[in-house]
Amino acid sequence: MAMQGKKSNYDTDVFTGLIAEISALCGKAYGKDDKVDVAMRVIADHIRAISFSIADGQLPSNVKAGYVIRRILRRAVRYAYTFLGIEEPFLCKLVPLLVTEMGDAFPELVRNKELITKVIKEEEDSFLRTLDKGIRMLDNIMLKNADSKTISGEEAFVLYDTYGFPPDLSDLIARENGFRIDHKSFENELQRQKERSRNATSTQEGDWTELRSYNGTEFTGYENIESPAQIVRFRIVKTKTKELFHIVLDRTPFYAESGGQVGDTGYLLSESGEKINVINTLKENNLHIHITERIPSNTLETFTAVVDKEKRESTANNHTATHLLHKALRDLLGSHIEQKGSLVSHNYFRFDFSHFEKISPETLREVEERVNKMIRENSPRDEKREIPVEEAKSMGAMALFGEKYGDTVRVIRFGESLELCGGTHTSHTGNIGFFKIISESAIAAGVRRIEATTGIYAERLVHNNEDIVASIKALFNNSPNILATITKVTEENETFKKRVEEFMRERALELKKHLLTETQNINGINVIMLTGEYHPEVVKNVAFLLRSEKSTMFAAGYKFEGKANLALMYSDDLVSHGCNAGKEIREAAKLISGGGGGQPFFATAGGKDVSGLQAAVTKLVELATK
Ligand SMILES: [Zn+2]
Repeated sequence: MAMQGKKSNYDTDVFTGLIAEISALCGKAYGKDDKVDVAMRVIADHIRAISFSIADGQLPSNVKAGYVIRRILRRAVRYAYTFLGIEEPFLCKLVPLLVTEMGDAFPELVRNKELITKVIKEEEDSFLRTLDKGIRMLDNIMLKNADSKTISGEEAFVLYDTYGFPPDLSDLIARENGFRIDHKSFENELQRQKERSRNATSTQEGDWTELRSYNGTEFTGYENIESPAQIVRFRIVKTKTKELFHIVLDRTPFYAESGGQVGDTGYLLSESGEKINVINTLKENNLHIHITERIPSNTLETFTAVVDKEKRESTANNHTATHLLHKALRDLLGSHIEQKGSLVSHNYFRFDFSHFEKISPETLREVEERVNKMIRENSPRDEKREIPVEEAKSMGAMALFGEKYGDTVRVIRFGESLELCGGTHTSHTGNIGFFKIISESAIAAGVRRIEATTGIYAERLVHNNEDIVASIKALFNNSPNILATITKVTEENETFKKRVEEFMRERALELKKHLLTETQNINGINVIMLTGEYHPEVVKNVAFLLRSEKSTMFAAGYKFEGKANLALMYSDDLVSHGCNAGKEIREAAKLISGGGGGQPFFATAGGKDVSGLQAAVTKLVELATK
């Protein structure tokens, strides 16, 4: 570095390209202002870290590794915003250069270039909106507290907690404007919020009761769904609402929730015939935990651990179906499809994967057809355990992106589908029976989700749709060409609607003519009253037709569908003299046991008491002419 004769390691070749690009994009020179220089270096450094993390399969989120990326990204956006004056997505524009410079050494950058760009752009967009909103709110707060020049901890906390506005930025802006933030009370608010969230999720775990020494649980669930088992330890777990037990066995056929597949349910049966239901199975620090609502009366007996067969089989079918879906998507859409997550349960599953656009209904059909073809091929499960991970990858097995694997892995093959996987699978694809997609949607930038189901659940989905079509047909007298019938009815309906509107307008015109002949002049105001039974649309039309008359008020009290209705209109010249229909109709609405409101020139009210209509109209006239 010294030999290159430059100031800091940011000025070495690794960063000069990026810094030049940033400088070109924001139109500020490097090396003239310390603050600008720092911002450029921070951005150059962070864009690399963010891009590599995304290429590595991580996405910005509010948890764990995803949160680290989000924070780094927001920090970079903030530096660009505050010191380079950049108020639009900018970091995403640096990705092409980064890929050009480092793509040779890191091919995953090249492969994920589009995903990286999209994810960063979306994050920038959303954070810039937050910044913009936060700064405006902060301006208002400062305006309000102009005398004290202090922002309370509570105000700063709301900005942070509700709007995600970074506290150090609040602080910076406050100081720039000669304000101070009450940090002590901010910390208090933060502490209080931490306690609130702790209380909301608090579970109290009792100490383990050790019954036997053991060396890890033997998992027998790949071959069996029933095993003899002994309890080695248990504990009680209390939440706010209930009390549960955690039971660890020496041997178990229960699959513990992992890799997206839900945990098994079933029961433990003691030698003496006591049955304890297992409501879920979880993995915690390598412990295989069976969750129950009771503890057996004699914990030292030998038990038979029995997995719910039907549920397990449906779950295994769905897990195998995710592998087939993965294969079909790659075949049809391309090898950029990579699994980003999944949830496999007994009645449905979802599969998240990298892809940039909505998948057309035609393509989804093709995906379904291809998966169902693989099902009919009835390929047997070919399972290899304890394969060194490198060997598995060289076999071409698809690994979950970003997942950390152990030294050896399990490889599952069905026909041409080959994956690294620890889940339970069916013995032959034919057991899945039938595959049906429920929906396809976007869940994040460049990540899509397919929800699907198999077997009886897929049949039910189809039956449900058939039932809907049958009900529609029944509504249209079982017309043989239902689509043509519905189109015709819809068009007819449009025509009728237009005719009704025309009719109402004509009716209103006639009514207006007639009403004008009954005008009474009270204290200089032309008063027009209407009572009887009318359609609200007609009354409204009349009111609007009368609006252009001089010094005119129109007060209607009418029945419609058994309810009492009021309408009040003032001509524009009366409104400019201070008449307010919205205000006065609320007063009169009391007489029909109702309420209402509106604008100064026109207001309406509704109520239950039709016997009060005449009195309400009289009241409206009184209010206007007094
Ligand atoms: Zn799997």
